[in-house]
Amino acid sequence: MNLLIIRLIIFVVLLWAGLKLYRMYREWKHERDELAGREQRNLDNGQMVRCAYCRVHLPEDEALHQDDQWFCGPNHRDRYLTERPPQA
Ligand SMILES: [Zn+2]
Repeated sequence: MNLLIIRLIIFVVLLWAGLKLYRMYREWKHERDELAGREQRNLDNGQMVRCAYCRVHLPEDEALHQDDQWFCGPNHRDRYLTERPPQA
């Protein structure tokens, strides 16, 4: 009888530990997948745009948008807008 209880306790402890490990693993995997997905999304949908002034390519979320043109920074935006050729 005593042995049976000890076996039962060991079984429960092992089950609990296994469940905890499994949850930790799933959490870790979920976090890793989310991180990888975010990086992949950045690569896939991270639209590259070209600065209208210096023609440097940069990600859309780092660029400035004005008058249907993209710029790498406020400096080039201002320069482009003041030095814009008349036909543009
Ligand atoms: Zn530029």
